[in-house]
Amino acid sequence: MKAVINLYRCMLTLALLMTVGGRLAAQTADSVDVLHYDITLDLSQRPVRGDATLTLRLLQPCNTIALDYVLGIDSVAVDGSVVAGADLAALPMASHSVGDTVTVRVWYYTYGYVESGGWGGLHVDNDMTYNLGVGFDDDPHIMGRAWFPCRDNFYDKATYTLNVTTKAGWTAECGGSCQNRSVDAGNKEHSQWHISQPTPTYLVSVSQANWKRVYDTVTSVYGDYPATYGYLYPSQSQVQAAFAQLDSVMPMFERCFGPYRWGRIGYIATAKGSMEHVNNIALARQALTSSEEFAKTTIAHELGHAWFGNLVTCLTAGDMWINEGGASFTSEVGMEAYMGRAWSDDYYQRNLESVLRTAHVDDGGHYRPLHGVPHRYTYGRTSYDKGWMVWHSLRGYLGEERFYAALRQLMERCAFGNVDASALRDSLSLYSGVDLTPFFAFHVFSPGFVDYDVDVTAAEFPATVSVAISQRSVGTTATAYANRVPVTFFSATLDTCKRWFSFAGTDTVVSGITLPFEPAFWVLDYDKEISDAVTIGEAHLGAEGGNASLAVAHAAVSAATPADVYVEHHWSPADGMPYGVQRSAQRRWRVTGQWQGAVEGRFRFVRTGHSSNYNDLDRGFYSQAASVDSLWLLFRPQGGTEWQLVARQMTGNANEGYLVTDSLRAGEYTIAVVDTARMGVEVMGMTPQSGTLRLFPNPVGQGQPITLLTECPAPYSVTVSDEGGRIVWQHDAWRDGRPLPLSLQKGIYFVRIENNLLSLQSKLIQL
Ligand SMILES: [Zn+2]
Repeated sequence: MKAVINLYRCMLTLALLMTVGGRLAAQTADSVDVLHYDITLDLSQRPVRGDATLTLRLLQPCNTIALDYVLGIDSVAVDGSVVAGADLAALPMASHSVGDTVTVRVWYYTYGYVESGGWGGLHVDNDMTYNLGVGFDDDPHIMGRAWFPCRDNFYDKATYTLNVTTKAGWTAECGGSCQNRSVDAGNKEHSQWHISQPTPTYLVSVSQANWKRVYDTVTSVYGDYPATYGYLYPSQSQVQAAFAQLDSVMPMFERCFGPYRWGRIGYIATAKGSMEHVNNIALARQALTSSEEFAKTTIAHELGHAWFGNLVTCLTAGDMWINEGGASFTSEVGMEAYMGRAWSDDYYQRNLESVLRTAHVDDGGHYRPLHGVPHRYTYGRTSYDKGWMVWHSLRGYLGEERFYAALRQLMERCAFGNVDASALRDSLSLYSGVDLTPFFAFHVFSPGFVDYDVDVTAAEFPATVSVAISQRSVGTTATAYANRVPVTFFSATLDTCKRWFSFAGTDTVVSGITLPFEPAFWVLDYDKEISDAVTIGEAHLGAEGGNASLAVAHAAVSAATPADVYVEHHWSPADGMPYGVQRSAQRRWRVTGQWQGAVEGRFRFVRTGHSSNYNDLDRGFYSQAASVDSLWLLFRPQGGTEWQLVARQMTGNANEGYLVTDSLRAGEYTIAVVDTARMGVEVMGMTPQSGTLRLFPNPVGQGQPITLLTECPAPYSVTVSDEGGRIVWQHDAWRDGRPLPLSLQKGIYFVRIENNLLSLQSKLIQL
């Protein structure tokens, strides 16, 4: 705990220097700590009238301090004396000393304020008034200033009293615990709320509406928590159904992360979206009426913030992954309790697949480190979805018991504090007893992913094996020096045995591993514990055979006889591509398992730019829509052996589909754009049918045009070279069947056509 506090103090100065240019001035921002906000808001009128008293302590000598606000200011008093013409950006403090407690009272008004991103701020709608505590676009993201004057940052935590007057007939739901409610003669409600835990401004909330409520009690490990669900439109039974999961999720969270520290649970349904306000979570309305996955996982995610973000908060927006990646991880943990581990594993793997395919595309086309994400991408996919993957992977790396024990210590010792990535690393290292420096160096401070390849060889005793593991980096030049890789071995009867392999370098070979059975095959990270650049699918076809889609592995299988097929989809390119391959996909498959009869295997491709459920799967690799003629499936039995072309049968169309082989084999597959004329290799079980270029007429007479005949309807460039290789004629955007007006000297020439998909050559004789 001490180490964290010290680091936090050091980081404070750095963080404040970075806010220069925003509303806060560095030296004044460093000089004050808000202890308590006492806010009175009259929501019954327009504009909303407010009166806030801030109790501050001076931390450093300073002449002025600054407050943040997006409000109309009526007047200001410091220690009870009205300051004429006061500027909230420069409140006079010269007469005070370090350690003094000062009160600043501000009378203000607002018509509501919503950031340019259309989300954060104070919304004054026809059916409700409510705030959302962070904005996507405004800088800083924190938006307490939309409804009260404050110090808007992640680390100045304070307590709050809210006194709220509503419109006639409406009632309030706010953060904190409700101290009292009364209704006046004009049917306006007056209520008072206390937040007694240190809380940053963005987590405080206010709302008024003609609320309907469901009251509940959630029984958990460390206590029974009263819960209030405020809503306007759904039925009571829909609301009860939506929150039924909390009976499973809350005990799971307390077992994993420690006690819930906020007393009561509250949600209100709002129009704009979901936000983890303390005691009063804003929840997207759709989440109350939908039975879809996003509804369940959003309810869990926002509650998970009670630990990740609300209890231990990122020190700056650049470490938003701690809050948002953490809360997204809690939604997986919550769903494990509510829906079962198979469901949560699937939920996790679908996110991993999506992160590997598109998180870098969505966040400006770059693989980004979790730490130091720029302002524009604070709430982007790296923070949320990649962040989730790294929390998940850390659990696998440490083992569940050690991981959750360390997390509970973090939540206890850093409760109501802040951490940055370095402080988090050092704290979790201390609490777990495992030095997490190399893990954080790769997964938090570097972009990208690690992809492992496992090879197993049997020794003279069949149940004793050697395991070789190597790694490749995806989206980074960094190397992972903290590797713990689980490998599950399968017997012929599908019994399993999992072994973890730890190594510090780029690769390892471990010999003399004795297993309880002779392994028939093995699968990397079968239990989906580490977020490496591999997604896994499996199919179990019974006596009648059948079809199975292995969606996250981008493959499908079908058979008429029993088959157990396991597919690792690796998100790094194959090595050893043969001559003639023009471009290979940035991904590959490893197929293993057991089957006797023929199994059809299908391997997905998606054109760049094509809108699909799997956008960007083949980004930059396969971009021509007009033809898929040169797209091939390649196979090799294992690493280090030669690739062979296996199939060009396909389903789907030029934009999206599967390359199909009717006799799936155990080994590696990949797809590539191939120039079969150049390759000159046997195609397994197939005769090449395209990849030919014919010239007509040939020989061609003087002054006569020639026509290029090919099976490629896409435009291509034409290059004519003489026997010495000198280019004598060139043209772009030519098409199949169009006569070419050549005029060459008598001789022998070579005509080459090329586009994204093919590269073909033929000899031409000019008479
Ligand atoms: Zn969140």
